[in-house]
Parts: sequence; structure tokens; C-alpha cells
Amino acid sequence: MTPLFEIIEAEEINYFSVPPHTAKLLIVLDETALSEGFSSLQSFSSTDIRLHFIVQTKQKKKQILSSYPELSFHPIDCLVTVSSERLLSILRIQFIGTRLVVSGSSSFVKTIREAAETAGFSDEEMQLKVIGSQKVAVFCVKCYSRHERNDEDLFLCPSCRTELDVSPHYSKRHDAYLGHIRI
Ligand SMILES: [Zn+2]
Repeated sequence: MTPLFEIIEAEEINYFSVPPHTAKLLIVLDETALSEGFSSLQSFSSTDIRLHFIVQTKQKKKQILSSYPELSFHPIDCLVTVSSERLLSILRIQFIGTRLVVSGSSSFVKTIREAAETAGFSDEEMQLKVIGSQKVAVFCVKCYSRHERNDEDLFLCPSCRTELDVSPHYSKRHDAYLGHIRI
């Protein structure tokens, strides 16, 4: 039987951390994540770990570096789109000990995650952070409707009025967190 939901097991986090045995961090960002600043990446700057940035942008590398001079200390690849062979080829040549840090829109993170899986990265080797409103959707497991989420743990489904507990698990298929019927 095919499972009804596909659950993302990779850790979803607010703050990036450096897991043990990390030799290198490959940091993949879209422009929103980049402009959000480096606050969530600051924990990396004091370590000996090698950083390599991949930025999805329509700007030239030179323009990116003039806006973000900190990046000039590290290798950086600027890609117009990450849904390309180029990303996959970068992911495929990484050594063991390379961990992936991904931040951007929901669809961006999804694209990178799929490419990373294809390239052989495991869930434990990825840290994913979704920026923007798309991550705050709830999928009602009773009536199969999808709604924007509020901050409460308890969610009243606007379609079927069922009280739902919002699971911490994100469903890739529904692009939403699953709302389980409250017992
Ligand atoms: Zn419902």
C-alpha cells in the first residue's frame, strides 16, 4: 500500500548548527535567504570548517560580492536557477564530510533537497530552512483541505471544523504540515 503522506524526515530548524565530523558546509541560498542576512549563519564564522556558497540569483557574481563582501572569503557559485544540471554536478563532486545547509523559499528548498538526494546526500547530512509564508500551511487529514496556519498548536480546520493538532512533520506532497485529528 502506498503511504498517504510523504514525510520529510530531514531536520527543519530555525538555527543552523555544525554537526560533528563536518569537514565542509555547502550553503545553498536563494536571494531572499541571502538578503535576510547572515544571522542564522553566524555560528559558522568562528569555526575551521570550510564554507562553500551556492546562491540562486540573476545577478552576476561581482554584484553579489559587492553587496555581500563577507562572501569573498569563500568559494561561491552563482546559479540563475537551481533546477539545472549544474547544481547536481556540484553536489555530486562533494567529499564525504560535506554537509548541506539550505535556506530559501519552500519550492527552492524542495528542489535542492531532491537534487541532494539524487546526489547521494542523506537526511542527516542536510539542514533545511524554509523562508516565507508557504511553510505555514496545515493539511487537514480529515477533509484533505489545506489552510494557512496560525501560531497556535491547536488548529480548527475552517472547512470541516475539526480540531487538529499540527504535527511537526512537513509533508512534501502537500507542501504543508499535517493536522492530525485531536483525540
Ligand atoms: Zn478539515
